[in-house]
Amino acid sequence: MTPPQSRIPYLPARIEGLAAIAMNLFWSWSTEARGLFASIDPLLWHRTRHNPFELLRAVDPARMAACASDGEFLRRYDEVMALLHEVQSARGTWYEHHYGAVEAPQIAYFCAEFGLHNSVPIYSGGLGVLAGDHCKSASDLGVPLVAVGPFYQKGYNDQRVNPSGWQEDSDQEFDVNSTPLVRVESASGEPWLAVVDTGGRPVHVQAWRMMVGRVPLYLLDTNLEANHPDDRTLMNKLYAGGPELRLRQEWILGVGGVRVLRALGIAPAAWHANEGHAAFMMIERVREHVAAGLSFGDAIHAVRETSIFTTHTPVPAGHDFFSFEELEAVSGPVWQAMGVSRDELFGLGLHPGQPELFHMTIAAIRLSARVNGVSRRHGQVSRSLWRELWPNRPWEAVPIGHVTNGVHLPTWMAPQVMALLDEHLGRGWQQRLDDPALWDQMLSLDHEALWRAHLSLKQVLGAAIREDARGRFARQHTEAAQVVGAGTLLDPTAFTIGFARRFATYKRANLVFRDLERLRRLLTDSRRPVQLVFAGKAHPADTPGKEVLQSVYRFTRDPSFEGRVAFLEDYDMHLAHLMVQGVDLWLNLPRVPLEASGTSGMKAALSGVPQLSTLDGWWQEGYDGTNGWAIPPAGEADDADAVDAERCYRLLEDQIVPLYYTRDARGVPVGWVERMRHAIRLGGGRFTARRMVQTYVREYYAPATAGDGAPDDPPTA
Ligand SMILES: *Cc1c(COP(=O)(O)O)cnc(C)c1O
Repeated sequence: MTPPQSRIPYLPARIEGLAAIAMNLFWSWSTEARGLFASIDPLLWHRTRHNPFELLRAVDPARMAACASDGEFLRRYDEVMALLHEVQSARGTWYEHHYGAVEAPQIAYFCAEFGLHNSVPIYSGGLGVLAGDHCKSASDLGVPLVAVGPFYQKGYNDQRVNPSGWQEDSDQEFDVNSTPLVRVESASGEPWLAVVDTGGRPVHVQAWRMMVGRVPLYLLDTNLEANHPDDRTLMNKLYAGGPELRLRQEWILGVGGVRVLRALGIAPAAWHANEGHAAFMMIERVREHVAAGLSFGDAIHAVRETSIFTTHTPVPAGHDFFSFEELEAVSGPVWQAMGVSRDELFGLGLHPGQPELFHMTIAAIRLSARVNGVSRRHGQVSRSLWRELWPNRPWEAVPIGHVTNGVHLPTWMAPQVMALLDEHLGRGWQQRLDDPALWDQMLSLDHEALWRAHLSLKQVLGAAIREDARGRFARQHTEAAQVVGAGTLLDPTAFTIGFARRFATYKRANLVFRDLERLRRLLTDSRRPVQLVFAGKAHPADTPGKEVLQSVYRFTRDPSFEGRVAFLEDYDMHLAHLMVQGVDLWLNLPRVPLEASGTSGMKAALSGVPQLSTLDGWWQEGYDGTNGWAIPPAGEADDADAVDAERCYRLLEDQIVPLYYTRDARGVPVGWVERMRHAIRLGGGRFTARRMVQTYVREYYAPATAGDGAPDDPPTA
């Protein structure tokens, strides 16, 4: 590992602060900072997929020297440096205004993955991107948050699709020196910060820090010489290996995470577990309280008061659980230090009426006085799902609330749309994000200007698709049909529908292929052609998901669809940006009620891309008849898939495609742009991570840190 300053070999003194900008991920959501890096060498910026380290290492030194004496560049540089200092000082923030100034972190936020930028591939999908957006918004708002997660040195999985349509997975190699990660030194001089017993051996844990604006994110890893060779690779990959490895990763995350924060002298007043993977963080705190003299019961009470748990999964099978034997093999006899039996401790994760299984979600519910789902609908689903924990209550009275997810506006709104808002609202509009009247003003955006901004984004997507296909043709594709399947024949003017997300079967990427004749008529209509662009990875162990991917992939190569179906490989945050901003319609077809929230449709809305979705997750509260289209619930239908497919075709045929192709004399589809305006109003006004984090602060963090006893309603079963 090279020290941070030598990640970037040489910078002229006048602009050496570029290294400091690169070392704080704040650059990734600052229009000014991104523009500054891009202006150094636009082509190189593009080629590095927006990685400032790779840019600054590869750029011609003569070009850097020229920047250092270019008045306009220096003016922009000074502006970004001032912004960085403002972020770091965190004065005058929303949080300070409402809750007073604080110096030290108050809230610890644990998650098994963080999606912050594609250059740091420690995420697999929606959960990680949500956690990343949470940290960025906490930084914007000045919330004193510290985040903790695992450091996956081999990332998640790179995706290749072979000629027969089968997904092949490989490690995501990434170079720490091309990220803002810094290894944290311990006060004792040892290379590790904490030691956790697991699998009968002590495992040493080190940490890496990444600054996300003003929020520090600590990533844990066990790749140390002091560890047994088998333990050094424990944290290598995200969601890799079987349940045992996963359990060990979660044990390190929870127990190691608390101990690392202690070693760093950080004393959070509230602890937030984002999804059940982090539940062991609560067990470790029970142990701490008992060690400090509390009884087991009082320790549980103390942990409950200060814990917040967010559940994301609407089906029981989606929650991790382990047998008591498996857990004991990983944890060792931890109950002994807590003065209870194994069954008493592990019983915290027991599902009433089920044999000896430890459910991470149930343990987290028992150990948190504040529990929430991630959309209004998912709140209801969760109350019903966990009602057996409160057998004396009607399910509606189960104390689980909801905070609907949101997305980070400065990360996801297209720069072209931001520029349009600068013109329409004046440059200071980003200071008024909390004012609902601001979002009503979207309804008077100029039709033609919004349409032109959209067309330019559609062009960017088209160019990126062709460039990627060209690269794969040269490096990897073996058949011409694969080049067609990668989207090279897409028509830049045709109505383009985007569908991109994990290939989990409940998301039903293949639903539109139920009636091939009908779909073919829709796509190949010569006056009003339609095209479909897919992307997404299946979990490496999810064979049914891979089969769905394969079936979709085969249609990309079917000549009877005339090249109007494409599959883009290797979906990540970079491709997600291009897609949510550059297609005409976002398609979302989860089987109700299996989508807890969903967030990609919110990202699309921020750039004026309306969605067509089943009424699940966030769409159930977001859809209002003007901002997109909804497929109503299939009810008790025997074949819900058939009913949903029929409704999807009908909407496309009767309403959506005709509206898109109805143009005025200027060529502007005014009725369509009307939906676009409403989509931006919806996304910006109600579904941002800013609103989400403000809600967490008001309803959960502030009461928990103030020691306001939650109305303590512990499960009774
Ligand atoms: C937003 C995002 C997701 C989540 O999309 P959903 O609509 O919630 O399924 C997954 N992967 C990436 C890369 C994303 O950016």
